[in-house]
Amino acid sequence: MKKEDIIITYGSDATSMTRALLQSIDIEGLLPDKHASIALKPNLVVAVTADSGATTHPEIVVSIIEFLQEKGYHSISIVESAWVGDSTKDGFRVNGYNQISKKYNVPLVDVKGDSYEKKTVDGITMEVSQTILNTDFLISLPVLKGHCQTAMTCALKNMKGCLSDRSKRLFHSLGLHRPIAALNVVRAADLIIVDSLNGDLDFEEGGNPVETNRMFACRDSVLCDSFGASLLGFELRDVPYIEMAEHLGAGTTDLEKANVIQLNEPSDEPVVRPTGRANYLGRYTEPDSACSACYGNLIHALKRLEEVDRLKNVKRNICIGQGYKGVKDPSKAGVGICTKGLGKSLPGCPPKAIDMIKFIKELNAD
Ligand code: SF4
Repeated sequence: MKKEDIIITYGSDATSMTRALLQSIDIEGLLPDKHASIALKPNLVVAVTADSGATTHPEIVVSIIEFLQEKGYHSISIVESAWVGDSTKDGFRVNGYNQISKKYNVPLVDVKGDSYEKKTVDGITMEVSQTILNTDFLISLPVLKGHCQTAMTCALKNMKGCLSDRSKRLFHSLGLHRPIAALNVVRAADLIIVDSLNGDLDFEEGGNPVETNRMFACRDSVLCDSFGASLLGFELRDVPYIEMAEHLGAGTTDLEKANVIQLNEPSDEPVVRPTGRANYLGRYTEPDSACSACYGNLIHALKRLEEVDRLKNVKRNICIGQGYKGVKDPSKAGVGICTKGLGKSLPGCPPKAIDMIKFIKELNAD
């Protein structure tokens, strides 16, 4: 897998999706030393299960462990810390990590009880987990989701779980963006496998999951987050730590040069309509057999429009889904290649939320 590759797979079975990604990566090419220490860093920011949209699906962790052990890698650990005020051990327990640890003989490291080494980048001194610093190969398993302070969270911010609680507090006092960028200069993931199955609409602690049934793999955390931002409908300027990390040399934001490899097509399994705060966004849509990746992107696009008070301008509902294949109706507008027979249609399969926003804005300007 090259540094500029972004490999995507769609589906709802995290186990087989993870395996498909790993098989396309050539892990032995990336990590020839079978004795290398490998840390898996999921997101267990709070002690809730993955259906909340907050935490990494444990099936992904299990699938990676099985794959690595089959290939002869045996020095694997799972490393994480919950946010300040929450217990990592509860997060491990709620998500079945104690059983995973026992079954596969993989230790759990709670960073809250780890020793730390002080590192300074860009004038910011932080205490970083010694386990993480000593790890040969770090596999980050972030959830792509909204965040109330930084707009979104993915690979770059997932590294915050490798800090002492004191440094996490410091990061908040400094506004998060600059320190997150600096942290990724100290240590960035060597491989990122993003859980984008049902990340939360706008809060890192979950509660409003939006099903997108998608996972993707990257090696460059900055590129990974640039891509993730576009999927959620954010411009880079909306998430300042991404460009800050690029300026510090942690990676590139240049999606033009990215090599996006799609392993399979999105499927039209029945979409779980958004619940809770996200539910009302569905009123602006006219779905018919929409793939969840497509529909989830549309929900994120509508959310972004709401945030800039543009939702009230939406004059007609947005058609979406495979049910529109072959439908010719000049009075309707839709997103995705399936709606190409409508009066106005945005190509793509699925289109990104960032492109949907532009399309809907232009539609409303007509
Ligand atoms: S364009 Fe059609 S087939 Fe493609 S993701 Fe959207 S609904 Fe599915």
